[in-house]
Amino acid sequence: MLDRRDFLVGAGGAATALLVGTPGGDAEARALTSGAQVPGFYRFPLGQFQITVVSDGTISFPCEALWPETAKADRDMVLAGDFQPTDNATLQVNVLAVNTGDRLVLVDAGSRGKFQPTASRLLENLAAAEIKPEQVDTILITHFHPDHMWGVTDDGDAERTFPNAEYVVGEAEWNFWMRPQHPLANDAFWEQIYHQNMKTVAAIKDRIRTVKPGGEAATGITTIATPGHTPGHTSVEIASGSDHLLCTADVVGNRAVALQRPDWRGGFDLDLEQGAKTRRAFLERCASEKALISTYHLPYPGLGHVTRAGGAFAWIPVDWQWNDVDPK
Ligand SMILES: [Zn+2]
Repeated sequence: MLDRRDFLVGAGGAATALLVGTPGGDAEARALTSGAQVPGFYRFPLGQFQITVVSDGTISFPCEALWPETAKADRDMVLAGDFQPTDNATLQVNVLAVNTGDRLVLVDAGSRGKFQPTASRLLENLAAAEIKPEQVDTILITHFHPDHMWGVTDDGDAERTFPNAEYVVGEAEWNFWMRPQHPLANDAFWEQIYHQNMKTVAAIKDRIRTVKPGGEAATGITTIATPGHTPGHTSVEIASGSDHLLCTADVVGNRAVALQRPDWRGGFDLDLEQGAKTRRAFLERCASEKALISTYHLPYPGLGHVTRAGGAFAWIPVDWQWNDVDPK
């Protein structure tokens, strides 16, 4: 029989290690829990569709690079007011996998750790969600930025990640990046990204299908032109039955800045003025339609609603639902 004192000081010190939380305490204490994080997938129904938000992880950027025209004091006020760090902003990477019943469509494809090592979880999270790469029929690439499209190939661009997929790209986006003597090819900031984009595109070129605004990646998955971030940047409407959602892609990046200060120019928009205009117009649409909104970069799983707040907007995340969502 252990008495109370035996319990606290006995048992090989395990209980004591727990009580004081000794880092690197004895092996028995450390074995009580694993350090592994949960898999990053979240399912919800949309009409007859089953949608799974699958995380690729996160990416981070210095705030002064994200909003170079904004005074530090103004940036700090908005970010600190939202309990975010003021030096670096972290963005989630939320890939959608839409099961329409006869097609499996991804909206964007992550970057397989080739952009920032923290964004490399898509494949393991797809596996956790029991989605096999070879099952993916279509990948809608909203725009040619690393965190959205480098994941379609492995390191070195030798093999395709999703061997059976076709790639749907907005016509304006395709035409922009395919321009000869490209202005970004020798640009100090974009040069590396441009050249890696071209290697990635070369590996999937024979399976690319371009669409005009309003064109479909699959029945019920329609593109919306939202230029500015890139010239052919595409947002997405997904509709089934009487349900629909609007997927912003990169019209919004940071949950505080994009919603509270939609007119701030930045967020790596190639056309800063058009980017800000598009952001305000698209957020107006989101608020007017009271639509369910999916975002690529807002806190996981990136689902919520947009409301008007003063002359700007507020983000209201959806509540996590624990019920299973069987495919129809
Ligand atoms: Zn992005």
